[in-house]
Amino acid sequence: RSITVELGERSYPIHIGSGLLQGIGERCQEAGFPLRSPLLVVSDSEVAPHFLATVESSLQAQGYTVVSHIIPAGEASKSLAVYEEVITTAIQAGLDRSSAVLALGGGVVGDLAGFVAASYMRGIGFLQIPTTILAHDSSVGGKVAVNHPLAKNMIGAFYQPSMVLYDLDTLRTLPPRQISSGLAEVVKHGLILDRDFAYWCRDHAAELLELNVEALGYALERGCAIKAAVIGNDEREHGQRAILNLGHTIGHAIEAVGGYGVFLHGEAIAIGMAGSALLAAKLGKDKSIYEDTVSMLSALALPVRLPAQYGEDELMAAMMHDKKFKEGKMTFIVPDAIGSVSIVNDVQQSSVREVIAQLKKEES
Ligand code: NAD
Ligand code: ZN
Repeated sequence: RSITVELGERSYPIHIGSGLLQGIGERCQEAGFPLRSPLLVVSDSEVAPHFLATVESSLQAQGYTVVSHIIPAGEASKSLAVYEEVITTAIQAGLDRSSAVLALGGGVVGDLAGFVAASYMRGIGFLQIPTTILAHDSSVGGKVAVNHPLAKNMIGAFYQPSMVLYDLDTLRTLPPRQISSGLAEVVKHGLILDRDFAYWCRDHAAELLELNVEALGYALERGCAIKAAVIGNDEREHGQRAILNLGHTIGHAIEAVGGYGVFLHGEAIAIGMAGSALLAAKLGKDKSIYEDTVSMLSALALPVRLPAQYGEDELMAAMMHDKKFKEGKMTFIVPDAIGSVSIVNDVQQSSVREVIAQLKKEES
């Protein structure tokens, strides 16, 4: 399966399938990376033991010089300190303007390695090799970043890869919670733009959770295609790209208040998407949107309720730090129906507070 992200001269292909890691050397030639320039593979301590050797030997068999940098697994590695260490490796290995950085891992590796690629010598080649389901989202779209202690993703760039190579075999070693968390972003893509796909995800939830190759290949292709279509129209988030943030305003607040890692990203945005559907009901939309959203998320083993210890005040304060908050009114992505959303700019704080209370009250 292949999709193209249409961005004029920055267009690039996404290849999805089994056994792709073994062909990475050829793909790098296809992408135009010259053999004389060293390649840097960035991976993390969980992913590297499984897949790094395969990637390195494919590249070496093609004739490339390869250097690898393994970061500790986890969000804490998306830091300026780790960024500097990777840059040090790049300089010591003699990477030049024609070199490329290969991101082998989940969203953390992709975001960090992408920012290295965007900034090393003002930008060198970049290839994404996502190994999580969530990374179907993060590897497409060109947002790359590291975190500042005061704010997530605060230091970054828009920088598109030359190619995304999505080898479904790598997903077999993912822990079950990471699978569900990643599927939250998959079903999100259905909820914003593709009604049939959203219901398809619910009806094929068992196959998706078991990583059935046919079902998962289709789901990731649809998810990537929807994301690609949105960013193709609005690469730098001047407008419509914001619909990709469905569930994220509440979700980010949950992550910030609970501490990163208590809820995984997809779990937090699942609760946020349930909240957006409750907000839709408050704004007069059909109540079945909430019921169907909850049935989809629950089928994928995702949470839809907020544990009682999450305080309304704390969550509201966390959202006020969010850039989406202006003069007492908040911007929210609100479903109009399953498969279509609107950007609503004048949501009252009081409505959001009620939604949060409701997300807790529904807990049984
Ligand atoms: P992650 O990269 O931390 O991966 C989750 C965990 O799974 C890690 O411990 C990792 O080591 C492990 N792992 C990865 N692949 C594995 C495999 N195949 N087998 C076994 N273990 C594996 O996190 P993620 O959920 O992939 O991504 C989250 C990050 O992505 C966040 O930093 C978020 O900000 C970012 N993100 C970016 C964008 C974007 O547009 N750039 C979009 C969404 C999320
Ligand atoms: Zn997300």
